[in-house]
Amino acid sequence: MSAAAAACVIGWPVEHSRSPLIHNYWLRHYRIAGEYRREAVPPARFAAFVGSLAARGYVGANVTVPHKEAALALSAPDDRARAVGAANTLWLDGGLRSTNTDIEGFLGNLDAAVPRWDREPGTAVVLGAGGAARAAIYGLLGRGVERIVIANRTPDRAEALRERFGPRLHPVRWDERNAALEDAALLVNATTLGMRGQPPLEIDVGRLPGHAVVSDLVYVPLETPLLRAAKARGLRTADGLGMLLHQAVRGFALWFGTTPAVTAELRSLVEADLGRAI
Ligand code: NAP
Repeated sequence: MSAAAAACVIGWPVEHSRSPLIHNYWLRHYRIAGEYRREAVPPARFAAFVGSLAARGYVGANVTVPHKEAALALSAPDDRARAVGAANTLWLDGGLRSTNTDIEGFLGNLDAAVPRWDREPGTAVVLGAGGAARAAIYGLLGRGVERIVIANRTPDRAEALRERFGPRLHPVRWDERNAALEDAALLVNATTLGMRGQPPLEIDVGRLPGHAVVSDLVYVPLETPLLRAAKARGLRTADGLGMLLHQAVRGFALWFGTTPAVTAELRSLVEADLGRAI
C-alpha cells in the first residue's frame, strides 16, 4: 500500500455524508497515512469520474445517492451487490470491483445490539422495498429467516422482490402491515418514514409479541418514534446509526488493509455530529 492511500465518498449532493467522519476517525485511530474525502459528482460525470479513480489517486470509494445503480453497472460486482441491485463500495483490484456493505451493516448491527437475535429467526416483517430493504432481506435470508413479510406502499415493488428473492417472501398490502406484526420476531423499517422532514411511520408496535426485535434503518433522528415506542414496550432494538457504522467496516479494510472496530468512541463522535445537524 502506498504511504498515503486515499478513498472518497461520491454523491450528488454529498455534504450530508458522515462517511468522512467515520473513515478519518479510523485513519487517525490506527495511525494510517491516508485520507478520505467528499467528492460531489453529478450523474453526467459519474462514469468518467469512476473511470479515473486511480488517476485521481484513489484506491476506492463509497457511492451514495443517486449513483448506486450506476456504480453497479460500471464495475465487476460481487454476489451481494448483484443481489441487492446496487453497489455502495468500489475498490480497484485489477479492474473496478464493487460490493454492497449495507447487508453486513444491517446484520453486524443487529448482532451487536441484540446478540443471538437469530437463534429462533421465525418471521420478519420488512417495511419498504427500496435498496435498504433489499439489503436487509438478502441478509435475513442468509441467516435462515423462514418467512419475510414485506409491506410496501407501492405493491408492485414488493411483488418484484418476491420474484427476485423467492418463496420465503410474502408481500402484503401497506394497510395490512399492523396485522402482519402479530407473529413477527423482527420488524425492520426500511422506508424513509420517520426520518426528519418525512412523514411519520404509522405502526402499532403494541401488536408485536413481547420477544420481538425492532430495527429502524433511519438514523436522523437517532431515536426515531418507532424505536422510542418499541423501547417503551420493553422490546429490544437496533438503530440506524449502528448500521451506518458497521457498513463502513469492509470498505476501510479493502482500501487501507486494516479491519477497524466499531467502538463507543466512534459512535459518540458521529452522534455528536448528527446532534449538531438538528
Ligand atoms: P429508497 O430506495 O428511496 O426507498 C424508500 C422506501 O420508502 C420505498 O419502499 C418507499 O415506498 C418508501 N416510502 C417513501 N415514502 C413513503 C410514504 N410516504 N409512505 C409509505 N412508504 C414510503 O430508499 P433506501 O435507499 O431504500 O433507504 C430507505 C431508508 O433507509 C432511508 O431512510 C435511508 O436513510 C435508510 N438507510 C439507512 C442505512 C444505514 O446505514 N442506517 C443504509 C441505507 C439506507 P415506494 O416503493 O412506494 O416508493
